[in-house]
Amino acid sequence: METARELAKLNKVNIFRAGIWKPRTRPNSFEGVGITGLKWLRRVKQETGLPVATEVANEKHVYEALKYGIDMLWIGARTSVNPFTVQEIADALRGVDIMVFVKNPINPDIELWIGAIERISKAGIKKIGAIHRGFSSYEKTSYRNQPNWQLPIELKRRIPDLPIICDPSHIAGARAYIHEISQKAMDLNFDGLMVESHINPGAALSDASQQLTPNDLKELLSRLIMRNASPSDPKLLDVLGELRQQIDVYDDHLIDLMEQRMKVAETIGRYKKENNITILQSTRWDEVVKRVMVIGQSKGLSPELIDNIFKAIHQESINHQMKIMNSDITDHSHDQ
Ligand code: PEP
Ligand code: MN
Repeated sequence: METARELAKLNKVNIFRAGIWKPRTRPNSFEGVGITGLKWLRRVKQETGLPVATEVANEKHVYEALKYGIDMLWIGARTSVNPFTVQEIADALRGVDIMVFVKNPINPDIELWIGAIERISKAGIKKIGAIHRGFSSYEKTSYRNQPNWQLPIELKRRIPDLPIICDPSHIAGARAYIHEISQKAMDLNFDGLMVESHINPGAALSDASQQLTPNDLKELLSRLIMRNASPSDPKLLDVLGELRQQIDVYDDHLIDLMEQRMKVAETIGRYKKENNITILQSTRWDEVVKRVMVIGQSKGLSPELIDNIFKAIHQESINHQMKIMNSDITDHSHDQ
């Protein structure tokens, strides 16, 4: 209640969220207070006037939340991965007029995310939003979850009218990164933020290291720079248009270069096939990565970019070579 009161006082918070049922990786972690908490949420709404939201992970959660007058629901990342569960929730929501947010599934699969949104939409829910909370990855970086910003961007391209908010708390996993992720989301034209807050972060029963005090949240929100999504000044548009043309030219160029690179890879593939050499030559690949890392860094490109791009290019080369290895149509020009 204290957190809710503080947040309401900021006059910058539009919705109060709280996890009543919390899916946890290991048993014996705090899994939420359950139905009792729905009464607390109702009190928050009565005292502060803020609409309240909670996570639902099955049909029973939906019925309970609706019974207590919760204003908005969200489907968590560990639920949106499961089409059966999403369908169960969608069926429970049929005929209900409520806003439903769908968090991205924990794995970076845009079709699964869209599929969950479609299930909710097919149940007749009109107010749907998406929440970008990052993706699980075996690669450990400073963030708890990988943002993979291209996925929410692609989601927006596929469903242009869908509001998307960002959950920087779950992407960051640590207070220190929440501001930079929030700013990034604003720069990418997201429609809002879902940020975790607690009056005494150290005492939070879950995700303590990513909680901000209401005061820190206020400070963070006031530091965010809001940029114009659709400039109307024709002069500005002109300059942007010209620069965007340049970007298109470079993108065409990148694609041409990749096509050429794949052709060379295919030639190598034919050579490997004729000489019975394995496709993957680990030492060679190691050399390639080391070389491009050095060059990339000297040009101000992040090791992350180089790593991602070259991994993808390498995979594509392997795929092209595989096709050649497995095809029966060999180059007979060497046959005698
Ligand atoms: C949460 O929002 O508190 C939560 C558990 O989120 P997610 O489903 O994204 O892990
Ligand atoms: Mn949490």
